[in-house]
Amino acid sequence: MSGFVFGEKPIEIESGDGVHLYDSGGSEYLDFGASYACAPVGHSHPDVVSAVEQQASDLLFVQGSYPTETRTALYDRLAALAPGALSNVWLCNSGTEANEAALKFARHATDRETVVATKRAFHGRTLGSLAATWKQKYRDGFAVPDNVEFVDYGDADALADAVDEDTAAVLLEPVQGEGGVRPAPDGYLAAAREACDETGAALVLDEIQTGLGRTGALWACERAGVEPDVLTVAKGLGSGLPIGATVCADWIADDAGDHGSTFSGGPVPCAAALATLDVLERESLATHAGDLGGYLQSELSELPVRDVRGAGLLVGVEVKRGAMRALRALAMDHQLLALPAGRTTLRFLPPLSITEADIDRAVGALEGVL
Ligand SMILES: *Cc1c(COP(=O)(O)O)cnc(C)c1O
Repeated sequence: MSGFVFGEKPIEIESGDGVHLYDSGGSEYLDFGASYACAPVGHSHPDVVSAVEQQASDLLFVQGSYPTETRTALYDRLAALAPGALSNVWLCNSGTEANEAALKFARHATDRETVVATKRAFHGRTLGSLAATWKQKYRDGFAVPDNVEFVDYGDADALADAVDEDTAAVLLEPVQGEGGVRPAPDGYLAAAREACDETGAALVLDEIQTGLGRTGALWACERAGVEPDVLTVAKGLGSGLPIGATVCADWIADDAGDHGSTFSGGPVPCAAALATLDVLERESLATHAGDLGGYLQSELSELPVRDVRGAGLLVGVEVKRGAMRALRALAMDHQLLALPAGRTTLRFLPPLSITEADIDRAVGALEGVL
């Protein structure tokens, strides 16, 4: 196990404010990925902090059999915000658990076992989600179940061929994140919807990275005009507090089977999620992400890079030499923190509240490094 360390001197982050992080020596960093999309409204947003403080002093925890106002409010809120008829919410503590639940629910509701997923997909590291995750390094030696069929991402015909009367679920990211920042081609999600409708399989969209406004709409599937049967969300939902959600259509929820988790819908992460959703809506951050994402992508396209891809503020930049070398230089020489997505792709996923000036600084830094 290793952390994500730059050079000999790891950067020890001590505090955060908006799009900035500060290390123990007082240096300021611009966060274009250090928070892994977990800070959509910026670091330590005062509304989220005060909601968490208030909830922590009122009640840290009570188990899910006892309804709490906070949990009920989050159920209602997510049901109202989710696409179309998705209105049944299961809460958990991470992205992989949200997908794990989605796969269990889909298997139970369809009474089928197999799942169709895509090459280069990332859905998490617990065994069920890992079975639908492509990278061999993550799977090696873990006796991962083999009931998932992988098809090329973006190839609608291959997907339709793979889905049949034995398929419980088709599991897709609307934009592959870890797999290199690859947006679904036009019509791909709609084709997946059709394949599921024809065979009775559940369409499960993993919006753990693309959700909550990142791509310019609250959910990336809305941009494609496609409504899944199950949508999973996590990462930024609690502004960094551990919370995920699996939002299901009635036909899935009505026959979801038995599932549970002690910490499901704990009061403090729920309070953080409600405050985060408030800020997202009040500051129209989805629209802002669409606008600023367009600006970021067009500025990046001016640089000598191989490719710029993405949607909104989920952006991949393919560089000629290794991504890690560029990331190290960005961090050490320019105080810009970003992520890799494969060997040659830099991944930018800043807080949605960034400004054009922040983008100019980031693009200038990358220009310097290139
Ligand atoms: C991060 C991520 C996950 C896993 O979430 P964890 O909270 O790390 O378990 C699943 N799917 C996608 C698309 C992700 O980006």
